Amino acid sequence: MVVVMHAAASEAEVSDVVDRVTHAGGEAFISRGASRTIIGLIGDLDHFGDLGLDGMPGVDHTVRISTPYKLVSRDHHPDRSTVWLGSGETHTPIGPGVLTVMAGPCAVETEEQTLEAAELARQLGATVLRGGAYKPRTSPYAFQGLGRRGLEILADVRSEIGLPIVTEIVDAADVDIIAEHADMLQIGTRNMANFALLQAVGSAGKPVLLKRGMSATIEEWLMAAEYVAQRGNLEIVLCERGIRTFETATRNTLDISAVPVAQALSHLPVIVDPSHSGGRRELVEPLSRAAVAVGADGLLIDVHPHPESARVDGAQALAAEDITEIAESLTALATTVGRSYSAPAR
Ligand code: PEP
Ligand code: MN
Repeated sequence: MVVVMHAAASEAEVSDVVDRVTHAGGEAFISRGASRTIIGLIGDLDHFGDLGLDGMPGVDHTVRISTPYKLVSRDHHPDRSTVWLGSGETHTPIGPGVLTVMAGPCAVETEEQTLEAAELARQLGATVLRGGAYKPRTSPYAFQGLGRRGLEILADVRSEIGLPIVTEIVDAADVDIIAEHADMLQIGTRNMANFALLQAVGSAGKPVLLKRGMSATIEEWLMAAEYVAQRGNLEIVLCERGIRTFETATRNTLDISAVPVAQALSHLPVIVDPSHSGGRRELVEPLSRAAVAVGADGLLIDVHPHPESARVDGAQALAAEDITEIAESLTALATTVGRSYSAPAR
């Protein structure tokens, strides 16, 4: 069961609900979204029905939800959510009505490379800068990222270019340092089912970008989001990044149907990563177009000033000469589907 509080409910009213549930032997998880607080209950559903929660001050309504993901379910939240990143001038929405582009280098390599990539991202109309400081590499011999130095570079580039940043976390021990430097924490495909990491990120107080596990069903992905939500954080954006199939022509198979399916099941925004799904630069534009056409709330795109010498994923990174064509194509499509997006004229 989920208890949906009024937008204006006070802390005391929220605590009263939690107290009543815990005294009755249940567990209550408070989750705060941009517009309202909801409380997920675990325990005997019939018993909760007798507690009179619906009539308590501050309670808007209660909903019985049978799916294994409740807080992120659309059952109690028919409107789709908008997640906001950054603050002040960099305050950026991700949700309905907007096409949010997040772009940047797969890995932060140097300050100069990150700054140049951020400039390309800006030309692409990105309102969020992506860059990896801690890289979860399949091979233990591959470049693992600059770590803390990478975070410092990202924070410096943010102050120079004025875009909020999203960066990946691979170890729960790094939550504090990453939350201190970044505006959004990314959970990559390899860690989607790392439940301790999901819980740690859920407590970090920063929005979360949750990529779909490469072999995860949509339901498993939503349950992973529920781990984050259960720790009090509903500021979650889902990212479809391609799944493993028998097909070898592309790096992964972009599951385009996951976008409308996840949006129907969950109120969370859903974006698409055309770079890691296709794995090739020339596929980024067609896959982006497919994503926007099917209703994605945003795109996560790799760009690099010198893809040929990139330390990670150069084959899929857009270079300077690719930007204009994609920006024009996204501008036309965004207008058609009624989403705001604007790339600066070059
Ligand atoms: C990334 O976005 O840099 C990344 C490693 O992606 P994924 O987790 O989807 O492989
Ligand atoms: Mn990558």
